[in-house]
Amino acid sequence: MPLDNPRSNFSKWYDEVLLRASIVDVRTPTKGANVLMPNGYEIWEAIKNFMNKKFKETGHKNAYFPLLIPEEFLQRESAHFEGFIPEVAWVTHVGNTKLPQKFALRPTSETIMYHMYAQWIHSHADLPLKYNQWCNIIRWDTKETRPLLRDREFFWSEAHTAHSTYEEAAKQVEQSMEIYQSLFDALCLSYLTFQRPDHDKFAGAEYTIAYDAPLPNGKVLQIGTTHHLGNNFAKPFDVKFLDTDGETKFVFQTSYGISTRLIASILSIHGDDQGLILPPKFAPTQIVIVPIIFKKKSEGILEACQELEDELVELGYRVFADLREQYTSGWKFSEWEMHGVPLRLEIGPRDLKNNSVLAARRDTLEKENVARGELGDFISDVFDKMAIYLKKRADAALASLMRNARTLAELKEIMRNNRGIVKSNWCEDVECAKKVKDETSSSILGTRQGVIETPDGPCLVCGNEGKVVAYIASSY
Ligand SMILES: [Zn+2]
Repeated sequence: MPLDNPRSNFSKWYDEVLLRASIVDVRTPTKGANVLMPNGYEIWEAIKNFMNKKFKETGHKNAYFPLLIPEEFLQRESAHFEGFIPEVAWVTHVGNTKLPQKFALRPTSETIMYHMYAQWIHSHADLPLKYNQWCNIIRWDTKETRPLLRDREFFWSEAHTAHSTYEEAAKQVEQSMEIYQSLFDALCLSYLTFQRPDHDKFAGAEYTIAYDAPLPNGKVLQIGTTHHLGNNFAKPFDVKFLDTDGETKFVFQTSYGISTRLIASILSIHGDDQGLILPPKFAPTQIVIVPIIFKKKSEGILEACQELEDELVELGYRVFADLREQYTSGWKFSEWEMHGVPLRLEIGPRDLKNNSVLAARRDTLEKENVARGELGDFISDVFDKMAIYLKKRADAALASLMRNARTLAELKEIMRNNRGIVKSNWCEDVECAKKVKDETSSSILGTRQGVIETPDGPCLVCGNEGKVVAYIASSY
């Protein structure tokens, strides 16, 4: 049975594709804490592999910190505490005995990590320090949960750095932006980078940079963030170093992260009404081989499929020869299209005779006869072409969602009809931002990072002078 179109009925398409492509199973006893199935988990592993390579190239090291964070740690930075308290789950008892101190299940790890940083950092020679942690975190969101989009438990990467000056930390913010850009480009995603408005920055940060990618329903998904923390955490956690001038100073810090939310973005933006389309670099299975058997005459065909699988595995591809006899080739085609496998190779009697295969691209659904001797070159070439095609399609999707509004009424109209990412003028008053949120189910994402834009009119809410060009969207 075909799926709905992700663009016309995203919600239904999304739930169905997660189940049918075995990405997430939500039938758990804990709302918002789901099973990431092997197909979903392997996408995450591919992301981890990509990031670990980037981290290594840029002087980051992986480490692991405790899950339990003492309440007193969270309280030390007041903005941080206020920001996270509504979503924190607490451990209060051991057996029937109440603990003298509550422990939070980490909603993020700044406090526990910086408590340790204070013990490791002594002099300028210990800086910069750049550690990353891959772990699960718990944020007990009381709003409606959605698998991968809004979970109570999810996986993420959180990198935490310490530097001797504010400027060096700011440079680290830029490096994180470059690292994420290379990841998002490799995933063929199209996104916008914003500086979040002050009222919406990370709790305890000087400023927050966020990466927002559109979904087919016109909402946006924050796929990553970077925070300049100043020395807002260094002071309460006493992270100090002896500088070259002989003075003891507080370090300056940054933190940045991506999470399994990223998977939601990849699935949604590339998928179609046949199912998922996965970027070749990140697909758990990159190539599926399907034998075409007429009147049960399988002589030589199954063997040829098996040989081809071995050959392609040897070349370094993730391949599956689907030789199961109880399924028809037609069933296998739709099954693997649903799973988003980038390339399907078919071998039937005529292909066997001609020493060729029929190759079908998942993205364009185009088919092509390829001589066996040319298959290696064909695959590497077609994977490059698919990445370009997917990126172009994602760019077009983003461009088609860009809108303009000059008044709150215009914004309301857009949000009622087809949503999108709305460019407007804003006075930077938090009351106007609040009004946008209360009256339109959307919010101010911020100002474009690295793009200088001048307001061309008054604030869309109050009509006073527009101080910045702000972007507004409905988000998860
Ligand atoms: Zn205003």
